[in-house]
Amino acid sequence: MINKALTESIRARYKKIQSQVRDSALVVGRDPASIKLLVVTKRQPLSVIEAAIAAGVKMLGENYPEEAVRKMQSIEAKKGVEWHMIGHVQSRKARLVAENFALLHSLDRLKTARRLDRFSKAAGRKLPFLLEFNIGGEESKHGWDASDEARWEDFLPDIEEILSLESLEVRGLMTMPPFFQDAELARPYFRRLRRLRDYLSEKHRQSSWEELSMGTSGDFQVAVEEGATIIRVGQAVVGQRPL
Ligand SMILES: *Cc1c(COP(=O)(O)O)cnc(C)c1O
Repeated sequence: MINKALTESIRARYKKIQSQVRDSALVVGRDPASIKLLVVTKRQPLSVIEAAIAAGVKMLGENYPEEAVRKMQSIEAKKGVEWHMIGHVQSRKARLVAENFALLHSLDRLKTARRLDRFSKAAGRKLPFLLEFNIGGEESKHGWDASDEARWEDFLPDIEEILSLESLEVRGLMTMPPFFQDAELARPYFRRLRRLRDYLSEKHRQSSWEELSMGTSGDFQVAVEEGATIIRVGQAVVGQRPL
């Protein structure tokens, strides 16, 4: 049974975010259709995901592979719905990720890439992924430290090897900036990720780098102004997460 009231409230918030995305895109002269809204449902119960799907949500983001796969298997009305992995991938979860997700946003180290490549090959597929960068250089965040532009060369060997893996397919970059109450303060971090994308695409012209996954409930409008192509919004669409 799908909760009608919940579906309608998610539908209303989803539409509101879409219209805010459109406004932000137009402010900077971007095509609103070039921005995808990923709805983050980590720790949310099945009832919330079912309501989100009933409300028209097409892309779901999850952080924990086992939780996500359990949800995928339990949901019936999932035709046309894409599941994205946005959390840190532990080595021993690489197979689950390789077999079950449309896009991995959070590839954060070479060793994991090698394992994902092996499992994707075994599954007979190519896994599309984004490289995750720690754009603020915070201890608590995953991804290559890209806080110091003078040291971007340091991670080029890792990237080069990852791009050579046959069963992985790069699509772009992802970041989670430091948290600020004032979204405007996240702007330089989003801008730096876009510059890093331009830098990497210059080094590796044969790969595709069009996706920039950045911006969450608190700062997606700034992220769109700075070039986000996928925004990852949880609480502003589906409400507070259970603890
Ligand atoms: C939880 C999470 C989000 C969504 O955050 P909200 O504040 O709920 O919008 C986005 N990206 C990542 C990587 C997350 O872990």
